[in-house]
Amino acid sequence: MFKVFEDFDLTRVGHFQSALAAAGIRTLLKNQFMSSVMGEIPFVEVMPELWVLEEADLPRAQALIEKLLATPSGNEPDWVCSNCGTEVAGVFSHCWNCGRGSEEFAV
Ligand SMILES: [Zn+2]
Repeated sequence: MFKVFEDFDLTRVGHFQSALAAAGIRTLLKNQFMSSVMGEIPFVEVMPELWVLEEADLPRAQALIEKLLATPSGNEPDWVCSNCGTEVAGVFSHCWNCGRGSEEFAV
Protein backbone atom coordinates (compact mmCIF):
# COMPACT_ATOMS: atom_id res chain seq x y z
CA MET A 1 0.00 0.00 0.00
CA PHE A 2 1.09 3.52 -0.71
CA LYS A 3 0.20 6.67 1.16
CA VAL A 4 -0.70 9.40 -1.30
CA PHE A 5 -2.14 12.07 0.92
CA GLU A 6 -2.70 13.12 4.49
CA ASP A 7 -4.24 16.17 6.03
CA PHE A 8 -5.65 17.22 9.38
CA ASP A 9 -8.84 18.08 7.53
CA LEU A 10 -10.75 14.80 7.29
CA THR A 11 -13.28 16.39 4.94
CA ARG A 12 -10.54 17.06 2.42
CA VAL A 13 -9.07 13.58 2.74
CA GLY A 14 -12.53 12.09 2.28
CA HIS A 15 -13.11 14.29 -0.74
CA PHE A 16 -9.89 13.07 -2.33
CA GLN A 17 -10.80 9.48 -1.60
CA SER A 18 -14.12 9.96 -3.40
CA ALA A 19 -12.32 11.47 -6.36
CA LEU A 20 -9.91 8.52 -6.59
CA ALA A 21 -12.74 6.03 -6.19
CA ALA A 22 -14.59 7.76 -9.02
CA ALA A 23 -11.51 7.20 -11.16
CA GLY A 24 -11.59 3.49 -10.37
CA ILE A 25 -8.69 3.55 -7.96
CA ARG A 26 -8.95 1.36 -4.87
CA THR A 27 -8.09 3.29 -1.73
CA LEU A 28 -8.07 2.96 2.01
CA LEU A 29 -8.65 5.68 4.55
CA LYS A 30 -6.67 5.44 7.76
CA ASN A 31 -7.17 7.25 11.04
CA GLN A 32 -10.57 8.58 10.08
CA PHE A 33 -11.82 8.03 13.61
CA MET A 34 -9.25 10.23 15.27
CA SER A 35 -11.76 11.93 17.53
CA SER A 36 -12.20 8.68 19.42
CA VAL A 37 -8.53 8.35 20.23
CA MET A 38 -7.62 12.00 20.70
CA GLY A 39 -6.08 12.59 24.06
CA GLU A 40 -4.47 9.18 24.09
CA ILE A 41 -2.28 9.43 21.02
CA PRO A 42 -0.30 12.51 19.91
CA PHE A 43 -2.46 14.35 17.40
CA VAL A 44 0.04 14.15 14.58
CA GLU A 45 0.00 10.35 14.69
CA VAL A 46 -3.68 10.15 13.98
CA MET A 47 -3.79 12.48 11.02
CA PRO A 48 -6.24 11.06 8.46
CA GLU A 49 -4.34 9.32 5.67
CA LEU A 50 -5.31 8.25 2.18
CA TRP A 51 -3.65 5.11 0.86
CA VAL A 52 -3.71 3.52 -2.59
CA LEU A 53 -3.86 -0.27 -2.59
CA GLU A 54 -2.38 -1.03 -5.99
CA GLU A 55 1.04 0.22 -7.02
CA ALA A 56 -0.16 0.36 -10.64
CA ASP A 57 -2.68 3.03 -9.65
CA LEU A 58 -0.13 5.14 -7.83
CA PRO A 59 0.97 7.50 -10.65
CA ARG A 60 -2.63 8.14 -11.61
CA ALA A 61 -3.64 8.73 -8.01
CA GLN A 62 -0.81 11.18 -7.45
CA ALA A 63 -1.61 13.05 -10.64
CA LEU A 64 -5.25 13.29 -9.61
CA ILE A 65 -4.40 14.59 -6.18
CA GLU A 66 -1.99 17.11 -7.63
CA LYS A 67 -4.79 18.34 -9.85
CA LEU A 68 -7.19 18.55 -6.93
CA LEU A 69 -4.62 20.43 -4.90
CA ALA A 70 -4.05 22.83 -7.77
CA THR A 71 -7.74 23.68 -7.79
CA PRO A 72 -7.99 27.11 -6.21
CA SER A 73 -9.55 26.96 -2.78
CA GLY A 74 -8.01 30.05 -1.30
CA ASN A 75 -4.80 31.24 -2.89
CA GLU A 76 -2.36 30.15 -0.30
CA PRO A 77 1.19 30.66 -1.50
CA ASP A 78 3.59 27.75 -1.48
CA TRP A 79 5.91 27.75 1.49
CA VAL A 80 9.20 26.18 2.43
CA CYS A 81 9.35 24.07 5.56
CA SER A 82 11.64 25.66 8.10
CA ASN A 83 12.50 22.27 9.52
CA CYS A 84 13.50 20.19 6.50
CA GLY A 85 13.52 22.68 3.63
CA THR A 86 10.83 20.90 1.64
CA GLU A 87 8.73 23.05 -0.67
CA VAL A 88 5.10 22.56 0.37
CA ALA A 89 2.00 23.53 -1.58
CA GLY A 90 0.05 26.37 0.04
CA VAL A 91 -3.01 24.22 0.55
CA PHE A 92 -1.13 22.13 3.08
CA SER A 93 -1.13 23.43 6.63
CA HIS A 94 1.68 21.07 7.53
CA CYS A 95 4.84 19.84 5.84
CA TRP A 96 4.07 16.53 4.11
CA ASN A 97 7.63 15.44 4.68
CA CYS A 98 8.23 16.04 8.38
CA GLY A 99 4.86 17.21 9.70
CA ARG A 100 5.86 20.69 10.83
CA GLY A 101 3.14 23.31 10.61
CA SER A 102 3.44 26.30 8.31
CA GLU A 103 2.84 28.62 11.23
CA GLU A 104 6.05 27.45 12.81
CA PHE A 105 8.27 29.48 10.53
CA ALA A 106 10.19 31.37 13.16
CA VAL A 107 12.04 29.13 15.54
ZN1 LIG B 1 9.39 19.58 6.78
